[in-house]
Amino acid sequence: MAEEDQSEVDMETFNSLRRFSYMNLPLCRLSWNPPANDDADVYEVQEPYKHKGKDNRVSGCSSLQQEEEVSSDEGDDSSSTSSKGDLCQSEDKQHEQEMKRTKVVHIATEIMSSEKVFVDVLKLLHIDFRDAVAKATRQSGKAVIEERILNQILYYLPQLYELNKDLLRELEERVAHWAEHQRLADIFVQKGPYLKMYSTYIKEFDRNIALLDEQCRKNPTFHSVLRDFEMSPRCANLALKHYLLKPVQRIPQYQLLLTDYLKNLPEDSTDYKDTQTALGIVKEVANHANDIMKQGDNFQKLMQIQYSLNGHHEIVQPGRVFLKEGTLMKLSRKVMQPRMFFLFNDALLYTTPVQSGQFKLNCMLSLAGMKVSKPSQEAYQNELNIESVERSFILSASSATERDEWLEAISKAIEDYTRKKITFISSRSQEENERTAGDDSDFPLGSKAPIWIPDLRTTMCMICTCEFTLTWRRHHCRACGKVVCQACSTNKCYLEYLKHQPARVCDHCYDKLQQKSDHSASSSISPGGRVGSSAFSFSRKQKKIPSALKEVSASTENSSMSGYLMRSKGHKKPWKRLWFVIKNKVLYTYAASEDVAALESQPLLGFFLREEKQGPAQKLQFKLYHKNTLYYIFKAEDIPTAQRWIEAFQEAMIL
Ligand SMILES: [Zn+2]
Ligand SMILES: [Zn+2]
Repeated sequence: MAEEDQSEVDMETFNSLRRFSYMNLPLCRLSWNPPANDDADVYEVQEPYKHKGKDNRVSGCSSLQQEEEVSSDEGDDSSSTSSKGDLCQSEDKQHEQEMKRTKVVHIATEIMSSEKVFVDVLKLLHIDFRDAVAKATRQSGKAVIEERILNQILYYLPQLYELNKDLLRELEERVAHWAEHQRLADIFVQKGPYLKMYSTYIKEFDRNIALLDEQCRKNPTFHSVLRDFEMSPRCANLALKHYLLKPVQRIPQYQLLLTDYLKNLPEDSTDYKDTQTALGIVKEVANHANDIMKQGDNFQKLMQIQYSLNGHHEIVQPGRVFLKEGTLMKLSRKVMQPRMFFLFNDALLYTTPVQSGQFKLNCMLSLAGMKVSKPSQEAYQNELNIESVERSFILSASSATERDEWLEAISKAIEDYTRKKITFISSRSQEENERTAGDDSDFPLGSKAPIWIPDLRTTMCMICTCEFTLTWRRHHCRACGKVVCQACSTNKCYLEYLKHQPARVCDHCYDKLQQKSDHSASSSISPGGRVGSSAFSFSRKQKKIPSALKEVSASTENSSMSGYLMRSKGHKKPWKRLWFVIKNKVLYTYAASEDVAALESQPLLGFFLREEKQGPAQKLQFKLYHKNTLYYIFKAEDIPTAQRWIEAFQEAMIL
């Protein structure tokens, strides 16, 4: 059958293919392997020997750190890295070398086997699809598509097919006799100049996809041939476009594979220099492609983002639209770190900038069920809260305006996404729609990642108000995100958003989750795997706090004003940065913005203010007096903030 088809290719096509063919190799058909079932070209780094904190303890390296910030939550802000002993380090080193040797072979095999899958894709496009068209032409007696147009749609595929078939043959030979050569990068170096054909393919890609779409609209016969082909087992029910995209994605894959290969190669290896050179060539092609796509439209933008991510991620998806990108600071437990965000009409991509304009993908958050909001405290006017099932966090923009732009863009994207889902997919996933459209009540405790309150925003346990010290440490409740002490978080619960893994919860959440599980017998709450049953018994430092100071928490809503101010007890006295709240004509003073108990509370009736009329502190400072006694001097960060505080004070001083 196949031979028959080949004879049907008219001479003109044959010659044009021949003319463009890679290195003038004859256009012959080799036997081919059936397509792999799964996307075998997705390369996954396997790290079977990786030591995690827990394993260290098992293997004899004890760690003093009891806090296990295992989770789920943030790979990038794990606060407790355990210190390893010397003994373990030398052991580790041997282990590491052994592991690297195994990995080099593993990666070499991966390069070869992913190439095999890729060559099969090229064959599908260049040979099998053409065959299908030729067969239809023969059956109907006239051409289903102009040869010229088909050649344009499949532009450069004949050359790429020959190039990669060649590459595959050499790679297979090397891997089969790995012990003899132990090298493969020289093949890439030798093929280097031809890899530039990929730039041309990428450059024309957009236009050719548009041409394919146009043909499908204008030419029903061709459309049905295409549809039949896509439905055939050969295509595994995937669109031709899906396969046309593969060559675009292959270059970043080479880059990833070769980078990993180099990382595991000993420097005295015969392949070391060649791998560096090969990587240079591949990077150049990738950068060139990236440059081409920078000026492009939506599709090219998506491709460019895909290219700028480390690893293999299929950012290009049918119907996905790029909306906004930018750097925002992400508040972790202890620090603020720059993160790059990409907003699409269906997801928010959260990445970490790495070297040379690349990004590491941390998380792709679906807009389904996402919530974005301003913090209730006015003092955090650059901040933005993002809550989603998988991750929740606080972001900080460089200005209030920038914050508002993001807030608006994300809210609108969520709204549009939700509406679209409801109108178009109403029958299938009613339940999901309801969740998407609903409010907080649709997300019961434990079904969604909480925002972790940053460490420095609280100086005391948010339940028992005991003070945190070096030994009495902060813990985060995995259900509500509050900062609590060890004594107030002795229980673990199975949490839905953590795929029902047990995790530390505070006593309040434990009670709530326990109640919930009483209602529904199916719910799976643990009988409390006790956490932190540590050998060191540190006691909590608990001061008696008058109940008046616990009436209002630092993060209370409905205050007249709240925020940080510098405070001094008088001229030449030291300044202290404290959090203040004015509520119901009382001034509350806190050590941090999430503290649940105040340091002081002071009704303001009968007090009065004097503003600083001149000098460098003019308009930033104001003094609080009672009768003729100076109580405090306050200093705000900027004039508008000072002004708002002055107004709030004055309002609270009179009945
Ligand atoms: Zn506590
Ligand atoms: Zn909690």
